[in-house]
Amino acid sequence: MKVLNEMKLSFPSRSANEAFARTALSAFTAALDPTIEELADIKTAVSEAVTNAIVHGYREGIGTIYIHAKILEKNRIVIRIRDTGCGIEDVKRAMEPLYTTCTTGERSGLGFAVMEAFMDKVKVRSRLGHGTSVTLEKTILSKGAE
Ligand code: ATP
Ligand code: MG
Repeated sequence: MKVLNEMKLSFPSRSANEAFARTALSAFTAALDPTIEELADIKTAVSEAVTNAIVHGYREGIGTIYIHAKILEKNRIVIRIRDTGCGIEDVKRAMEPLYTTCTTGERSGLGFAVMEAFMDKVKVRSRLGHGTSVTLEKTILSKGAE
C-alpha cells in the first residue's frame, strides 16, 4: 500500500520518554482526523509497547528505542516500536493475557492484550539476545464518516 507520510524517532529508554513517544504519535496521527477515542487507543498501545522496551527489553540498562510510523492509504496507520534489548524467548506465550516475567508483582501481564484490544493488528518479532519489534496497525475512521 502507498505510504502517504512517515516519520522516524529514536530516543534512550528512559521512563520520561514514554510520555514523549505517546504525545509524538498522537501529534503524528492528528493528520488523520481521529476521534478522541481513536487517539486514546493509539496512545495507550504505544505506551504499552514503549514501556515494555524500557522495562523488559533493556531492563536495568539504557538502550535506544526506535519508532517508525507510516500513514498509508485508506486512513491506515502503522507504527513499529523496536528495541535491541534482550528479546523474547517465546513470543506466543508472552502475548497470552496475564503472562508476565515480572516477579515483583508490579506488572499484570496485560500489555500485549491491551495493544490487541485497542489496535486492529499487532505483530511481534523477536530474537533472544537481539531485540524485539512490535508493529501496531489501525484504520482511523475519520470523524467526518460518523
Ligand atoms: P504489564 O504490561 O501489564 O505491566 P507485562 O509487561 O509483564 O505487564 P506484557 O506487556 O503483556 O506484560 O508483556 C508480557 C511479557 O513479554 C513481559 O513480562 C516480558 O517478559 C515480555 N516482553 C514484552 N515486551 C518485551 C520486550 N520489548 N523485550 C523483552 N521482553 C518483552
Ligand atoms: Mg507490558
